[in-house]
Amino acid sequence: MFKKIYSPVDKVELFPFDKLYAKRDDLIDAYISGNKWRKLKYVLKKAEEGQKTHLVTFGGAFSNHLVATAAAASRTGLKSTAFIRGEEVKNEILLLCSLFGMHLIFADRESYKDKLTLYNKHFQKDSEAFFIDEGGASEEATIGCAEIIDELSESYDHIFCAAGTGTTAAGLLEGIKKHKLSTKLHVVPVLKNGFFIKDEILKYTSDSPNLSLHTDYHFGGYAKTTPELIEFIKNFVRKTGILVDPVYTAKLFYAITDLQKNNVIESHEKILAIHTGGLLGLFGMKDKF
Ligand SMILES: *Cc1c(COP(=O)(O)O)cnc(C)c1O
Repeated sequence: MFKKIYSPVDKVELFPFDKLYAKRDDLIDAYISGNKWRKLKYVLKKAEEGQKTHLVTFGGAFSNHLVATAAAASRTGLKSTAFIRGEEVKNEILLLCSLFGMHLIFADRESYKDKLTLYNKHFQKDSEAFFIDEGGASEEATIGCAEIIDELSESYDHIFCAAGTGTTAAGLLEGIKKHKLSTKLHVVPVLKNGFFIKDEILKYTSDSPNLSLHTDYHFGGYAKTTPELIEFIKNFVRKTGILVDPVYTAKLFYAITDLQKNNVIESHEKILAIHTGGLLGLFGMKDKF
């Protein structure tokens, strides 16, 4: 049933940077993008097994997860509803969600805080409804993300990923452990005070000496940017032909190049960056360019 969504992208493309490779999960699908597909894969399977036909989820008005859920639902013949944080707005992301048939319910910030109450208020009596947490965060999500490691055909000294909730990072670490790799996992939180990501990762997997966090690349916090990051994006896209978004992947690639420049990563070491997709995030920041 879900096969038609996904054709695996297992090739790794070379950048015009030395020893830096990218796993192009952004190419999985334009709308069920990158790690949002990885995170939904087994969540959708669970919904299917429970014969649920209506996906209900949560997110901010620029959430990549909402578009991914809406597109996945429409392609698999399911209904979808999203609770959107904050007052009613219109934007490119929500337009796509609506086109894919997602029903949008705007919830004020206070009631949004208690997602389960919100869900129960609308869907308690709906036996077809299936609760998916914000961003798709779940045990199933980490299983999907661990498959990124299964697909690698070469070994790397370092693997880098951006982190919002840390679920993707937890899955990657599980994959690294499963394959008994000595590869280091470097996590770049895109939020301020990103040390909390470690506790989030450890909800799903045990600690490992292979895990390191780089908390200085948030550029002011979640969905915040600086002229320096915008300049980086322009240069990076022009040089590589690969799009990055200001919320996640630009911060990731900035961190990698900065750590290389400062010799934290040595020049002979081989690096894999996980391009987690999320390119629609560019639209949320179009005024910054
Ligand atoms: C959602 C998202 C992330 C964050 O993933 P987490 O599992 O929440 O850490 C990273 N990159 C992109 C492009 C995303 O859309």
